[in-house]
Amino acid sequence: MREGIHPGYKNCKVTCACGNTFEIQSMKEEMRLDVCSACHPFYTGQQKMINRGGRVEKFKKKFNIE
Ligand SMILES: [Zn+2]
Repeated sequence: MREGIHPGYKNCKVTCACGNTFEIQSMKEEMRLDVCSACHPFYTGQQKMINRGGRVEKFKKKFNIE
């Protein structure tokens, strides 16, 4: 990390909708994301498994998983 370039930046706790948390350097102290590198379809290739907008519930119903 190159410190001193952005003196106003601080550790920002990022919370993703998937439950993943990580820290970035930001002007904000907290951020919320819908997707992150851990759950984004581009990285996982499992778009159907993302628990957003009841997708997982539909998935469970479709395959009779309770
Ligand atoms: Zn995520």
